[in-house]
Amino acid sequence: MPDRTATHPSEPFADVKARVAAAVEAASTEIIDLSHRIHANPEPAFEERQASTWVAEALRARDFEVQHPAGSLDTAIRAVYRGRRGDDGPRIGILAEYDALPGLGHGCGHNTMAASGFGAAIALASVADALPGEIVFLGTPAEERGSGKQIMINDGLFAGLDAALLYHPCDRSHVESHPLASEDVEVVYSGLQAHAASDPWRGKNALDAMILLFGSVGLWRQQLRPTSRVHGIIREGGTAANIIPDRASAWFMLRSDDLAYYDEMKARFSAMAEAAALATDTTVEVTYSGGAMTMRNNRVLVELFRANMAAYGIEDMGDDPNAGSTDMANVSWVCPAIHPDLAICDEGVPGHSIAFRDAAATPRADETTLLAATLVAQTAVDLFLDPAFVEAAWAEFRAG
Ligand SMILES: [Zn+2]
Repeated sequence: MPDRTATHPSEPFADVKARVAAAVEAASTEIIDLSHRIHANPEPAFEERQASTWVAEALRARDFEVQHPAGSLDTAIRAVYRGRRGDDGPRIGILAEYDALPGLGHGCGHNTMAASGFGAAIALASVADALPGEIVFLGTPAEERGSGKQIMINDGLFAGLDAALLYHPCDRSHVESHPLASEDVEVVYSGLQAHAASDPWRGKNALDAMILLFGSVGLWRQQLRPTSRVHGIIREGGTAANIIPDRASAWFMLRSDDLAYYDEMKARFSAMAEAAALATDTTVEVTYSGGAMTMRNNRVLVELFRANMAAYGIEDMGDDPNAGSTDMANVSWVCPAIHPDLAICDEGVPGHSIAFRDAAATPRADETTLLAATLVAQTAVDLFLDPAFVEAAWAEFRAG
């Protein structure tokens, strides 16, 4: 493991960065305790009451001005700490997720994100005498389902941010990532009940429509681009074998790495759903949830984070070619953002698994959590202390 407490006098702003690293080290017991507590008490999307309360209390104890709940989500946090050099500096967002996976626990390791985000925020607060602007900690619920960050964006909680930073645990360390646009699609067919033996010709079979849709989707898949996905389950398919089902519902997900192609996919999916309704004389309702977008990796922030990583001897292993989806991507359309991943285990341990869940509370994960806090805070220091970086990040953002 790299030496977390090492200082790097040749680095820009080395003195402030060294203070940040020392502040993380000084709070390491509290940071790791927070990670382990959240790991031991997994709460799914929108239900992160305990986790968000622990994080909010810890920030309050460090003199952050804390809103919890924040906006329309009970488990969202917005906590601010002002730099002592006035309000004319940038506003840098430090984000933290804390939701778990139903039935699995912290199989995505978000406990380490909550703890490192807290660590980064308090480390920055400890050098606030040297910083202009505002440190804005955002506790962001519901990453695994429901795109909590989009709800927080709609609630205005990202307004005025100049950059959004976080860290995510992984089996590999890399700064850029290319998550797929993704959303949930609810499909409901409505037909007409009838006795399945005595007068089936009077019925309209909603399950038949659903089976046709699954057939169409299966055939469609062979022509989809390799970077797109469609997958689903049937939730309701009738109540008894001797009743023609009048209602069938399914939960699909569509994903793509290309937003224009994604819109084409949605149009085609809707057409297939309608076609199955037409074929079975049923009606269909297709509801798109709105969801995660594709990620705009801000190169200026990527290079800053990579340089801070390199100072600790961590090499960027390159983009993850097999991305899922994340609502951090939505943030990247609102302000300059990055989604760096750092390894908490050996390469090859799959995400969303028992193995990854167990890895998220090991000494190695703890080390990564502390280092992530330092790296995120040091990247924020670059932005706070050199307005040219903030300007360049925005120039790139505006150029698209
Ligand atoms: Zn995750």
